[in-house]
Amino acid sequence: MPLYDCVIIGAGILGLATARQLLLETPGLNLLVIDKESQVAKHQSGHNSGVIHSGVYYKPGSLKAQLCVRGKHLLHAYCAERSIKTPRLGKVIVATSQDELPRLEALYERGQANGVEGIQYLSRTELLKREPYCTGGIAAVLCPEVAVVDFAEVCRSLAQDIRSLGGQLMTGFEVSKINAEASSVTLLSREGQRVQAKKLISCAGLFSDRIAAASGGQKTPKIVPFRGDYLLLKPSAAYLVKGLIYPVPDPQFPFLGVHFTPRLDGSVWLGPNAVLAFKREGYRFADLSLKDLADVFSYQGFWRLAQKHWRVGLSELYQDLSKHAYVKALQRTMPALKASHCLPGPSGVRAQALAEDGSLVEDFVWDCPQENIIHLRNAPSPAATSCLAIAEKIAQKSNCVLV
Ligand SMILES: Cc1cc2nc3c(=O)[nH]c(=O)nc-3n(C[C@H](O)[C@H](O)[C@H](O)COP(=O)(O)OP(=O)(O)OC[C@H]3O[C@@H](n4cnc5c(N)ncnc54)[C@H](O)[C@@H]3O)c2cc1C
Repeated sequence: MPLYDCVIIGAGILGLATARQLLLETPGLNLLVIDKESQVAKHQSGHNSGVIHSGVYYKPGSLKAQLCVRGKHLLHAYCAERSIKTPRLGKVIVATSQDELPRLEALYERGQANGVEGIQYLSRTELLKREPYCTGGIAAVLCPEVAVVDFAEVCRSLAQDIRSLGGQLMTGFEVSKINAEASSVTLLSREGQRVQAKKLISCAGLFSDRIAAASGGQKTPKIVPFRGDYLLLKPSAAYLVKGLIYPVPDPQFPFLGVHFTPRLDGSVWLGPNAVLAFKREGYRFADLSLKDLADVFSYQGFWRLAQKHWRVGLSELYQDLSKHAYVKALQRTMPALKASHCLPGPSGVRAQALAEDGSLVEDFVWDCPQENIIHLRNAPSPAATSCLAIAEKIAQKSNCVLV
């Protein structure tokens, strides 16, 4: 069995970006990326809104704020080098009632503190010049630099870089057991394959908590899967949307609220909402895993969250089941939108870390249970935007840096 210098679990955007960064920093590194799927970006990195975020939302000084702002610059430069399209369509965050105005103003200040280029506060008249159908809006914040990209294409490009820098990619290897020792780590697959490496980095997305626990790390925070379903705007109604349109988010939750996102292929996605998924990689309502459900329902953190936010949870579920209720949420910003303008769309599942006290972990989190292991434990949006900056941080992480 060959001994690799480093093995990375997860061929999503974070595992791939980290692998590329390590290979750039340490030429000749004997590095392997493994994934249980047959291709890269099969989960969150291939099922998302495709937005290169500006950094407007995040608490100044947090990892999310720092790494989103650095990450978007790195990502734009990378995509320009690789001829990956990133049109800057711009985004408006729209307040629809007086009580949202203080939160909108706070977002504007955050955006300024985080260095969001060109950020502007728009009056209703200025908003309507930009987005004529946002007639529910009374004021807005404009982030003109916000762009869209195909993150799965970025992943494919990163995978190519890894190969050309001498790294290897192994698909179809589902890590089911980990033997962690001080000098090496052995990964075993369900089929009995083995991989051994001096160092392990785990970027396992929806399974990051289980992988951490399997290597002797902490069992919490646990990952709770939140599915986001989208509607698709019919092409005949695409005239309603010029750029990205978002509501003012509820500060109690890390999700951004259902929004309008034009895509690179000309389609417009509406959403995503946020409902508890009954399976970690379950993309349809009916997808169910007893193991995943038992994991959620046996966790105190979930019941503490449910106790605080059951009303919001039920309302999201209702919106998920009723197209009219879903459209009603979008109509707050755009009253002209009708249910007949919308078709069922795709979905994604977010890996959201939930602490034992019932709080949804906001910032990016990684930990090093022992010197040769690092786990990325919480990497929700805007982690795809931030991937190259997160990769730099993981590579720098002093006691896990490769020698
Ligand atoms: C609906 C939705 C919308 C989003 N929108 C945006 C957006 O617009 N902009 C943005 O910046 N971010 C967005 N995000 C967040 C972003 O997509 C994620 O933060 C990012 O993709 C996380 O990447 P990852 O590599 O950590 O995870 P993933 O892409 O999920 O990759 C994890 C990989 O680990 C593999 N794996 C897991 N367990 C094992 C195992 N036991 N053995 C082997 N392999 C394993 C999986 O197969 C998977 O390929 C969105 C996310 C969702 C769900």
